Amino acid sequence: MQELHKLTIHESHKLLKEKKVSSVELTEAILKHLNKVDAKVRACMTVTGENAMAAAKAADKAISKGKIEPLTGVPALIKDNMCIKGVRTTCSSKMLENFIPPYDATVIEKLKAVNTVIVGKTNMDEFAMGSSTENSAYFATHNPWNLDCVPGGSSGGSAAAVAIDEAIYALGSDTGGSIRQPAGFCGVVGMKPTYGRVSRFGLVAFASSLDQIGPITKDVTDCALVLNVIAGHDKRDSTTAALDVPDYTKALKPDIKGFRVGVPGEYFVEGMQPEVRQALEAAIKKLEELGAVIDWNVSLPHTKYALAIYYILAPSEASANLARYDGVKYGYSYREAGTMWEAMEKTKQYGFGPEVKRRIMLGTYALSAGYYDAYYVKAQKVRTLIKQEFEEAFKKYDALVTPTSPTVAFKIGEKTDDPVQMYLSDVCTLPINIAGVPAVSIPAGMVNGLPVGMQIIGKHFSEETLLRLAYAYEQATPWHTKKPAA
Ligand code: GLN
Repeated sequence: MQELHKLTIHESHKLLKEKKVSSVELTEAILKHLNKVDAKVRACMTVTGENAMAAAKAADKAISKGKIEPLTGVPALIKDNMCIKGVRTTCSSKMLENFIPPYDATVIEKLKAVNTVIVGKTNMDEFAMGSSTENSAYFATHNPWNLDCVPGGSSGGSAAAVAIDEAIYALGSDTGGSIRQPAGFCGVVGMKPTYGRVSRFGLVAFASSLDQIGPITKDVTDCALVLNVIAGHDKRDSTTAALDVPDYTKALKPDIKGFRVGVPGEYFVEGMQPEVRQALEAAIKKLEELGAVIDWNVSLPHTKYALAIYYILAPSEASANLARYDGVKYGYSYREAGTMWEAMEKTKQYGFGPEVKRRIMLGTYALSAGYYDAYYVKAQKVRTLIKQEFEEAFKKYDALVTPTSPTVAFKIGEKTDDPVQMYLSDVCTLPINIAGVPAVSIPAGMVNGLPVGMQIIGKHFSEETLLRLAYAYEQATPWHTKKPAA
């Protein structure tokens, strides 16, 4: 008997289309496997088995009428910061412990429209603030490759789940690396699309000018298939671009002859694990063998400011976005207070965890009178410089290639007492959100039994170029076939 949970989207689709397997069978197999392995990995926040079985039956019915799209009948998990009507959406925060959204996020609407099967919600860092999924107010998720290690974050639940086959694919969100870094740590494919490519309507806001939803998948073909469905203009999110969505699978060609690829030295940071550097160098040589023209000496000097300005801009936006959790509109509410002020204070005191409070304080400080110009305005100016630097680079190169993270997955607990060390694990991914350009992380090696991620960055709306390079590399290397022991 074939192990159905191990299938990719395109493999599942083939079997569903040929009626060799039904969505009900596939969903049952996923739920069975999920229940077995999640006791150890703890990737899931909520499992919606009954809804999933109902969706699988609906998918089978659609298929029997010949209505089948690549995601039809395929089981997926969703990061717990995207609203699904009637399903608890916690954002891994006590603040939203009992929040049941009355509507679907646009991405969910799109997935439901093609009859995909949503099996549940995944654990994350509270409000997507973190790099290890240890900031969840409920429990930590473990890396399936080594249960003593973190899966990365903040979409650690989604990445771990896909790596250990708890779902065929998942959605994550990425504000400074939260799709790519956990994808890298768990050995799966994770893409942050161009800012404005995918609607954020129904995504719990962290830093609205940086947040983007994207696919976490087992291979590059699946990444293209998910992007095909979730991308596009949405009148409920005015930052989405009014651009047609191409068929991203058309980009999946093994030929990359003549593609100009730059390697920016600033991303090979001090403190980088030497084995990760070696793995990356080997991966870039592979791209060269495949016909890409590599420039090993690209310099993007403003990269060094990215971390500092991210930790001004993201907390500033977060402090504004999180002001809505006042205990009045929705979410947790402290009811025993004598005054309104006490109620608000106690609501926030209990509802938010330490990292969220730290960010709100940082952001409020950076935005306050007397500091606004020195911090927030200055950071916005540097943001423009970083964006321009990328625009210049993309006149010369089709893509830039870097490590996704300077190290492989670290141990649970290793960085929890030192926020700055934790922040540093995103040095290679943050600049991409600052510039709003797209990037994908793909498996590109193994170090001490843990996956290494390679990040491919492109200009705005160049997802096809990224997928093409990623696909060519994937097809020529064995990394995407490696699996952690279940
Ligand atoms: N780790 C970064 C942070 O904590 C990025 C998080 C994210 O992309 N959501 O802000």
